[in-house]
Amino acid sequence: MASIKFHFAVIAAKISAKLIKLIGGNASNMPGQIALKLCKDFMSQAPKAPLVVCVTGTNGKTTVSNLLADALEADGKKVVSNRLGSNIAPGCAANLLNSLNWRGKCRVDVAVYEVDERASRLVLPYIKPDYLVVTNLFRDSLKRNAHPDYIFSVIDTYCPDTTKLILNADELCSSMLKKNNDKVYYGIGKLPTDITESINIVHDYSICPNCGATLKYDYLRYHHIGYATCPECDFHSFDADYLVTNLDIENKELTIKIKGVEQSYPLISDIIFNIYNELTVITALLEIGIPNEKVKELVARIQVPDSRLNHKKVNGVTVVQAMSKGQSCISSCRTFDYVAGETGRKAIVLAMDDYYDRKKSIEYIGWIYDVDYEFFNKEDIVQVIATGPRCYDHKVRLLLAGVPEDRISCAEEEMDGVNLIKTKEVDHVYILYDTSTYNLSCKMKDKLVNSLEVEQ
Ligand SMILES: [Zn+2]
Repeated sequence: MASIKFHFAVIAAKISAKLIKLIGGNASNMPGQIALKLCKDFMSQAPKAPLVVCVTGTNGKTTVSNLLADALEADGKKVVSNRLGSNIAPGCAANLLNSLNWRGKCRVDVAVYEVDERASRLVLPYIKPDYLVVTNLFRDSLKRNAHPDYIFSVIDTYCPDTTKLILNADELCSSMLKKNNDKVYYGIGKLPTDITESINIVHDYSICPNCGATLKYDYLRYHHIGYATCPECDFHSFDADYLVTNLDIENKELTIKIKGVEQSYPLISDIIFNIYNELTVITALLEIGIPNEKVKELVARIQVPDSRLNHKKVNGVTVVQAMSKGQSCISSCRTFDYVAGETGRKAIVLAMDDYYDRKKSIEYIGWIYDVDYEFFNKEDIVQVIATGPRCYDHKVRLLLAGVPEDRISCAEEEMDGVNLIKTKEVDHVYILYDTSTYNLSCKMKDKLVNSLEVEQ
């Protein structure tokens, strides 16, 4: 039975949400803060939705939780998700508040929470999810997240023992979470492009957790993503219950082997990290109990959000905005690798500085030495333009990666970087942005598109 304090918190927080909306504000965090302030155990007192799914991990959690909420909504379910709010405790509390009516009773079928992996200790023990989806655990901002093993210990300690986990078999760190919980694994089998020795600067988890021997990878996709076996003991990566056996990029088809039977699904992206995101969503939908044929139909209706990657072709030049999270070396490595692998002559604009860190604390720049700028040392990358106050740090890193100096330009003011693009010499311009510089990258793209239209 919920306390008077809880009911008071629900009403006060809902009134604040109405007022914030009335004045045109974003009511995605503040009502959660109010609810937690007025009732400290608001999250544990609130009635649970019939189905609660949390999504966490270093990379891909926003995309996965959004796609999952989209698919469940398309299935006709009443869903709340914190897609417009933060993924730390107040944002999750606000999402929980949205799942309740004024009387404090649950009013939805499903609650999907994107949960920051570090903040999971303040969320998971209280909302007790039915499912916890973990995308991966990678090296991330040193200042915020320390080492992935630390994040592992946070999730492992605070995830309830009753929660079923949906884990990435191809990623050794997160796949070992919650040893005794009920769980399923998803993974992508060997691809023709896979290798056996790492080419990345960052390759964590190269040592057997049982005996300390150097692991051998049957196949390695990037960093430590792949299938590892120990030559000295019987340790190996987990085998996937949902295993991708074929990726048909041309015909946009994804084949997944489930309980020995191969099933085909529409492929919604040709980028490997988004294929992982899609596979994660398919696994979660099937685990939740949505029939296979329905899942196929739902997947065909969902789209990778535009803010992650979008294209516009003007006057023969394709302008692409792509997220490349600053401070997070793996996110940036994946984007660098993808961009470098695209065909055609390219100019790359870097706008990846952390605006929040710059304004409110000291920005840690060491992360750029974990990112493979070496991918940009290619003949068809005609130009790399580093922008922002940290542009010279990026230039040093590019020089160390062997990129010829005459292909590197710097602009301390980000918008000035657009003027330096040699549009006549390239087929593609990639603007790489951080989560905090998305709006800036849109302005850069608009400026470039306008100048290309004038040239026409
Ligand atoms: Zn071993």
